[in-house]
Amino acid sequence: MISVTIKKGYDLNIEGKPSSDSEDLPKPEYVAVLPEKIPFIIPRLSAEKGDKVKIGSVLFEDKRHPEVKFLSPGGGEITDMEFGPRRIVKAIVIRLDETESFETFDSISESGLEKIGREELLQILLGRGVWQFIRELPFRDIARHDKIPPAIFVTSDDGEPFQPDPAVYLKGKKELFEFGIRILSKLAKTVHVVGAVRRPATTEELDGLITHTCKGPYPAGDAGVMIYHTKTASSENRSWYICAQDVLTIAQSLKSGVYSVERVMVLAGSASIERKHIRTRAGVPLEHLVRGRVKTGDVRYVVGGIFRGYTAPKESYMGFYETSLTLLPESREPQPFGFLSPGFTKPTYFRTFLSALSRSDLAMDCNLHGDVRACINCGSCAQVCPVDILPQFAFKCVLADEVEEFLEQGLLDCAECGLCTYLCPSKIEVCKILRDAKAKYYKEQG
Ligand code: SF4
Ligand code: SF4
Repeated sequence: MISVTIKKGYDLNIEGKPSSDSEDLPKPEYVAVLPEKIPFIIPRLSAEKGDKVKIGSVLFEDKRHPEVKFLSPGGGEITDMEFGPRRIVKAIVIRLDETESFETFDSISESGLEKIGREELLQILLGRGVWQFIRELPFRDIARHDKIPPAIFVTSDDGEPFQPDPAVYLKGKKELFEFGIRILSKLAKTVHVVGAVRRPATTEELDGLITHTCKGPYPAGDAGVMIYHTKTASSENRSWYICAQDVLTIAQSLKSGVYSVERVMVLAGSASIERKHIRTRAGVPLEHLVRGRVKTGDVRYVVGGIFRGYTAPKESYMGFYETSLTLLPESREPQPFGFLSPGFTKPTYFRTFLSALSRSDLAMDCNLHGDVRACINCGSCAQVCPVDILPQFAFKCVLADEVEEFLEQGLLDCAECGLCTYLCPSKIEVCKILRDAKAKYYKEQG
């Protein structure tokens, strides 16, 4: 087993952690797919408003890679298609039938899997709409199936606050998970299973499977961070990765012959009344997840994680890859003379507030306490960067369009963890600048 300890990074001590209790949510009235939130794809629709679809019917494909198909997470009628500027497909909304019908495929048994070759397995994964759960570094797009990767990393926890606990979603599913690992083993020379960073003792379903452990603050356990600290050749930068819960989705879809839409999600954050794990389905409406569990007042809905996620309107839906919803108080009120406040209760990285003396969990709101201003070269972003980038130089290279320079600064190693943005006292969206630059470079490379 390979053990990695990272020293850089940061653990956010905030209130609102979900308990490990889980609740089965009743079936929602609607589900949706949000193509706009799936990085790098260009959707080409295969269905239109008013169509009747089954669970597993093809809704759209990626124009650049038509073999990558996205399937319906519900059986019913497409009641809405939302388009954004330049006809970008934002959402495909399905009203669920009381009794949903579903597409069926041939199910694959344990012994059947042994007889399937790599090429045939690729076609099965593509045809069943589960290929896209496997992603490729360093750009974090959908893995290119025409390549054999140096390795696949299976990750279960990188320390980002409020993600589903593998001990909850893997509970009782060790056999299914092992089946999923066997599927992945047919695609790559090596499959690495990274142990959960936060809860190694409670994840018995991973016993005997873990090949790597990673200790340290967030984002220890992220696939990109693991590769940065363990790679022996630059070819490993092109490794694939997948979240452990998505391994279950692939395994279940192949084993049952039906597109699996079950998901374990978490509802968390200090503006949530009940913070827990929720068993529900892909594409569930946010309002269905939070029903009766949101505090009054102005609340921000953060989908996908505090550091890597995005703010969504409460009328929206969970995205294809997301399983975490965090509710935070907005707090738009200015705080006159806030700098005179001792700040006992404000989460902070700096020693500006007295709360820095304690590591107890504190309530976090969305107040930025200031506007964007010029970089003051404080170097704080570099102190936490888990892959030793100097973000303050990298983002300036990006803004100056110095491509060679920003590559030399290690831009492709960026784990897109969001820490540099979180703690920048000048409120510069460093991570977004670097992520957008990576995406632009990726598109230019074709
Ligand atoms: S530069 Fe990238 S890896 Fe480093 S802190 Fe910023 S987002 Fe994280
Ligand atoms: S944390 Fe912000 S202000 Fe400080 S060096 Fe980095 S980018 Fe500049």
